[in-house]
Amino acid sequence: MLLRIPYTTPLPSLPPIPTTATTLPTAITAVSNFLLNARSTLLLSGAGISVESGLPDYRGPRGTYTLNKEYRPIFYGDFVHKDAMRRRYWARSFLGWKGVEKVRPNRTHRAVGRLWEGGWVGEAITQNVDSLHSMSHPAMPITNLHGLLSTVLCLTCRTHSERSVFQKELHRLNPTYSEFIEKMRSTPDLPIKRGPDGDIEVPGVKYENFRYPPCQKCLNNSTFDGMIKVDKDGAVEIIDGDANIPGIVKPTLVFFGENLRDEVRKEAEGKVDAVDSVLVIGSSLATYSAWRLVKKAKDQGKKVGIINLGGVRGENAFWDDGEGKIAAKYRLGDGTDGVRVEFDAGDVLEGALEVLERVDGKRVNRKVPLGDPETSRHDIELREIETATAR
Ligand SMILES: [Zn+2]
Repeated sequence: MLLRIPYTTPLPSLPPIPTTATTLPTAITAVSNFLLNARSTLLLSGAGISVESGLPDYRGPRGTYTLNKEYRPIFYGDFVHKDAMRRRYWARSFLGWKGVEKVRPNRTHRAVGRLWEGGWVGEAITQNVDSLHSMSHPAMPITNLHGLLSTVLCLTCRTHSERSVFQKELHRLNPTYSEFIEKMRSTPDLPIKRGPDGDIEVPGVKYENFRYPPCQKCLNNSTFDGMIKVDKDGAVEIIDGDANIPGIVKPTLVFFGENLRDEVRKEAEGKVDAVDSVLVIGSSLATYSAWRLVKKAKDQGKKVGIINLGGVRGENAFWDDGEGKIAAKYRLGDGTDGVRVEFDAGDVLEGALEVLERVDGKRVNRKVPLGDPETSRHDIELREIETATAR
């Protein structure tokens, strides 16, 4: 079992790797060396790369956890078992959807696309649920580790549908909230806090009376006769106590406290198995499901690169010389064996592209096929050991 669990405490920073990578130009050189000397590089991206598109990250300088100590994302168990939590979730998600729909890829996504076209990176895994990689470079194979915001599914019959269609239903069932969206549009300075998963928080707004529909297929399924109670407009009636009923619709993103889908986890592990280096961009790896992929690469003797503003969770494990210090080959190297820089990923990747295109041309034959999934160690049961801190 592998859960997505938030880790909200600040993470300490390490000195740059190599130690010379203290300025943007030297960081670019180190990252260029890393990419030039890798046979095949897997990219792992996080919320940091979508900040420029207007989505907050979690722990960056203007991140959700940094600015809003009270922020607590919704947990899967709460969504499944508590009607009030579903109303709260859908209300916030409903209000935030317009903002999510407007979001477009930025220069970091475009740089990733160029790195892929040039053959300097192979495939990618993203923790982001915003679809911006696919929007920017649709041909690049992306594993959406934590699912996507753009679709919803029924937890009972697993029917998928478009989030935008579900949004129309929410509009129909919640006319006062629709009016509020209009007000938000005409009042740009409302104190709204936007979360990385597309939800927003508006101080003073209550969510108890927000209405959501059940899955229509399950509602009309005689097996569940009488188990799904709806009002005259077709919205789920308020349920006290355990509200785990058939036909609950949920976004396809992986909630905190929810298992990653088996096939997604295996696909991500297969991608790690198939490469000889992993480059992390815009992520503090605070989510265990992402951290362990990098740790897996490290344990397989692969090279690790990290470009992130701010600290990275448990990163000593990637660089340790066995005595609690950063190993000399990383500290004193030129980036080839490993790189760890604290700059904006867009700045670094755009700079690295200039170097790579100049000295290396295009290396389109470097895309390496996925390894045999049977050889990956997916039979090991992995469990999140961190206890979620609710701050
Ligand atoms: Zn259903």
